[in-house]
Formats: sequence, structure tokens, C-alpha cells
Amino acid sequence: MPAAAERGPTVAADLDLGPAARRFRSEIREWLAANRPEPLEDTERETYGPGPGSPYWEWGERLRAAGYICVSWPPEHGGRGLSGIEVAVMNEEFARAGAPRVTRGMGEALVGPAIIVHGTDEQKAHFLPRIISGEDRYCQGFSEPGAGSDLANVQTRGLVDGDDIVLNGQKVWTSWYHHATTVFCLCRTDPDAPKHRGISYVLVPLHRDDGSGNGVEFRPIRQMTGDSHFAETFLDDARAPLFNVIGDIDNGWRVAMTTLGNERGGGASTQHVQFAREMWALAKEARARGRSTDPVVRQQLAWAYCHVEIMRFQGLRLLSAIAANRDPGPGASMSKMFWSEYQRRLGEHAMSIVGPDSLLTGDGYSLDRWTATFLGTRAHTIWGGTAEIQRNIVGERVLGLPKEPRPGA
Ligand SMILES: Cc1cc2nc3c(=O)[nH]c(=O)nc-3n(C[C@H](O)[C@H](O)[C@H](O)COP(=O)(O)OP(=O)(O)OC[C@H]3O[C@@H](n4cnc5c(N)ncnc54)[C@H](O)[C@@H]3O)c2cc1C
Repeated sequence: MPAAAERGPTVAADLDLGPAARRFRSEIREWLAANRPEPLEDTERETYGPGPGSPYWEWGERLRAAGYICVSWPPEHGGRGLSGIEVAVMNEEFARAGAPRVTRGMGEALVGPAIIVHGTDEQKAHFLPRIISGEDRYCQGFSEPGAGSDLANVQTRGLVDGDDIVLNGQKVWTSWYHHATTVFCLCRTDPDAPKHRGISYVLVPLHRDDGSGNGVEFRPIRQMTGDSHFAETFLDDARAPLFNVIGDIDNGWRVAMTTLGNERGGGASTQHVQFAREMWALAKEARARGRSTDPVVRQQLAWAYCHVEIMRFQGLRLLSAIAANRDPGPGASMSKMFWSEYQRRLGEHAMSIVGPDSLLTGDGYSLDRWTATFLGTRAHTIWGGTAEIQRNIVGERVLGLPKEPRPGA
């Protein structure tokens, strides 16, 4: 038997997920063997909703032609209606083949599913095909300087003007703005309504039909990693047709909740594949640096291995619940809390394994993989709802603990 560090990632493929999943696995495996692209680095920055002009876009086009885009959307909306199990199989096979799984980013994961639940038939017919084709690419304008965890505090104003809605205000931390054609925003349309009412969910194009700007300005924010994958967003008379309001005027909060549920739960059943690859890469790094006999390092790697296995089994539990049409319950919040805290800690272990080399940062040095992981994962317990907020949700909705005191409540 090869040494553990040479065995590589464990994936759920070791478990028999049934005949349909087996058939689907063979189909994907054959397709990838025939169509795999030239090696492309599997980075989220490139694979999450890329725009035209990049090799990832070209690869995404081949995936689309083969029906491997928006795969979990229902067939009547242009997807393949894949179950959670089949999506897990697909991710595993892509990881096994070393082929990046290009998606339509937030359009596929967040906006499309919200339109499917809350949009009118006309909105579905208009917006969903444009997400699949990649013509519309989205970024998320929810957070504001005074509205993060307390998202219902949005102050950006939306005023109805004839057949349009006009937005003014400021958003912040707008990720993936550099790939986007449209920003999906929450805005306050009735300032006199109670906090969670009077909010609307609007798809705001970045450009008008004649190609001119639509009053949306991004100011990139430089991150610790040196990257600028998010921005401050200023809305200055940004205009959208009322047709772009999803779930009706003043009724955007429940649309936002659908989006947040998908943001927190998305990938819960499949992300162990990526974490397993990362964990085995760290084990390899430890060997290469002669650190793998150090008992502290061994302890750190064993800790990581156990956590990845827990995520794998938790994912399978979620898949079984979905396959049996049972409500997966609080899975989304628990999963977000678990994986984000895991990866932060893994980043710390990686720094201690790499040692002094990991301190080489700053102008003139490009970050190595592990320093980038360490710095990048600081954010994971913040975006999509902080770890503290997930704990509040689990405490109140799962354990039935008393609600936290809220001012004015
Ligand atoms: C990498 C990254 C990408 C992001 N991308 C986007 C994006 O694309 N679009 C977008 O709209 N937003 C995005 N965000 C913003 C993100 O959703 C918010 O940062 C997050 O919701 C927290 O809000 P805040 O930063 O205002 O912190 P605050 O809400 O001010 O929280 C500050 C601290 O107080 C704690 N806290 C707050 N309320 C409570 C409470 N009730 N109980 C216990 N503790 C509490 C929090 O946990 C946190 O530790 C991104 C953030 C990051 C880091």
C-alpha cells in the first residue's frame, strides 16, 4: 500500500451511491477523457463566472454545449435537474480529471435559483437563458457600510419612476465585480415600513442599452493578499426597468433569504473534494520540507484529515436527506460554520509547516499558495454571514434557545 501522502484525496466515489450515480459517473468520466482542456489552474477567481476572452470562458462554453452548466436547475429552465448526489459525482470527477469546474458564478448559484422560486414566468423566460449563456454575469450588492450582519438595515433608496426604478446609495464588499454585467441589489423602497418590509430585490445592469454607464461605479478594495476581488459600489441614479424587480416591489426580503440560503448551503455536500486535495497537498509540502516526522506537524495533519472526513460524511448525510426528500434542516448554517473555521485553522497550520518562508510577503514578492491560503481564509468566517451569526441561527432555530436580545424588541 502506498504511503498515505501519496494516496491522494479520498472522495465519495469510494462509496456506492447507487446505479444512477454510477451511470452518471461513467458518462462524465468518458466525456472528460475526450474533452479535457489543456491544464488550467483551478482557482476560484477564474472559474466562478468568467467573462469572454479568458481560457476559462472557452472551457465554460464547451461545458455549456455539453449541458454541464447550471446543472442543478430544473430542465424546464434550461438545467439538467441533477440531484445533489449527481452534482457531488460531477465535482468529484472534475477534480479527479484535474479539470476546473467553470460555472456561471453568482448567476448560477444565487440569482437564478431566486428567480426560479420568486420570478414571474416572463422573468424566468428572459433572465435564466441569459445566465446560462453567460451573457448576464452577476455580482452581489447586499452589504452596505451600515448593513452587514444586520442586512435588513439597508439604506440604499429605490424610487419608482414611471416604468423604472432608480437606485441611489452605497454598497460595499462587492465580490467578482470584475466579471459582472449586472449587480443584484437590495434597496429600500418604503422607508416607513417595518425594517424587514419595504425592501426590494433589483437586478441593476452596469450599462444602458446604448452602452453608456448606468450610474454604477466600482472602487476596488485592496485585500491583504494584494488582490482586489471586491469593491465599494456607488449607485448614482442607477436605473433598471421595473421588470428587473424580483418578487415585487417591497417584497424583496424573502427573495434575499432564498439567495442567502443558497449562499450558505451551496456546495455543502461537495466541497470536501477541494479540501481533501488541499489537505493532501499540505501533507506533501510537509514531506518535501522534512517536517512530516515532527509530532506536532503529524498532529496538525491528522486533525485536518479528520475534519475533511467529517465534512465528507456530513455532506453525504445532507445528500441522503435530499435524496429522501427530507428537509436538510439547519445543514446550511452548520456547514458554513464548520468549513469556514476549519479552513482558517488549516491556513494557520500551513504557515507553521512552511515556517519562515511563509513570512515572505509584500511588494516584490508574489504570495505562495500557503500564505495566500492563510490570508485569504481570514475572510471565510465573515462573508455569507459570519460564524457568530451562524451560531445565533443554530442556537435559536435548532436548539430552541432564547432569542438574543435586540434593541427595541
Ligand atoms: C471576502 C468577502 C466577500 C464578500 N462579498 C460580498 C458580496 O459580494 N456582496 C455583499 O453584499 N457582501 C459581501 N461581503 C460582505 C459580508 O456579507 C459582510 O462582511 C458580513 O455579512 C458581515 O457584515 P459586516 O462586515 O458589516 O460586519 P458586522 O455585521 O458589523 O459585524 C462585525 C462583528 O460583529 C459580529 N456580530 C454582528 N452582529 C452580531 C450578532 N447579532 N450576534 C453576534 N455577533 C454579531 C459579527 O459576527 C462580526 O464579528 C463579503 C465579505 C467578505 C469578507
